[in-house]
Amino acid sequence: AASPGASQVPRYVRVNTLKTCVDDVIDFFKRQGYSYLGKAASVEELRALSGKKFLLDLHLPELLVFPPQTDFHDNLLYTSGHIILQDKASCLPAFLLGPAAGSYVIDACAAPGNKTSHLAAILKNKGQIFAFDVDTKRLATMNTMLMRAGVTGFQLAQQDFLTVDPGDPKYSKVTYILLDPSCSGSGMVNRVPREEAAPSAERLQALAGFQRKVLSHALSFPALRRLVYSTCSLHREENEDVVHAVLQERGLAFRLVNAFPSWPCRGLAAFPGAESCLRASPADTLTHGFFVAVLERCGEGAAALS
Ligand code: SAM
Repeated sequence: AASPGASQVPRYVRVNTLKTCVDDVIDFFKRQGYSYLGKAASVEELRALSGKKFLLDLHLPELLVFPPQTDFHDNLLYTSGHIILQDKASCLPAFLLGPAAGSYVIDACAAPGNKTSHLAAILKNKGQIFAFDVDTKRLATMNTMLMRAGVTGFQLAQQDFLTVDPGDPKYSKVTYILLDPSCSGSGMVNRVPREEAAPSAERLQALAGFQRKVLSHALSFPALRRLVYSTCSLHREENEDVVHAVLQERGLAFRLVNAFPSWPCRGLAAFPGAESCLRASPADTLTHGFFVAVLERCGEGAAALS
């Protein structure tokens, strides 16, 4: 299918359950003159949205879908942190990590913090999130955003995740890691035209090298049970190839989980089992381009978390 641009990707609105609930947000938008059409049954229904109409997403709970270009940046619910303006594909990592309330979680490359706030909502603010990033400016934005979203129980550090010591007793109870590292961003549909955005072979190689290193480092946390690796890249070098290389390096310690079997768009056939990974694209899932892999420690107890 032809790849639609940003103009055809709907406006997705994640309800921040730390501050409100889906029904109250639906009522709010109805009072603002929008018609609620119920829960979508297909991606086609999302594609057909127009005017002042909205739906509940078919895949993700707590996600409302409005027509493309709907702008809520000045909306009271957004400025008060009751809703988060986040693409549907970028809601997948925290949802698929699914940490139980009370868990200890690392968000390794966290700023500007949309996925951290999603994790906090899933944890119901119970537990502990250790969030890292190297970029001061993005961390400042993140701090404001987390405050606005009512997130508590997190420690935000300006630190290269590669220098975080897995042996530090502080992290001995970390059972979940979300890893959303820097990537080429080739899946972002509102960036510069795709040809101009195409990364050089050298840049791809450098990014993939970093991504492999950081994934391998994350898997070395001793109590880790489940990890989600995600990028907003379309390049196999940054996605399936990274996951495959690191799984091979780790022997039989971790396995790929067949995440979200009903999700229509799967990993490229780069290695046996790669279809357990998820992909997203404007044409297939009406989202930005995205990749997600869920890894779990093999052996006793791991199944209890899936
Ligand atoms: N997870 C974020 C969210 O949902 O809002 C987006 C993360 S963005 C794709 C990648 C982030 O990784 C950038 O903010 C970048 O500064 C950070 N980063 C790059 N290298 C890093 C490193 N070695 N340690 C920690 N963070 C790093």
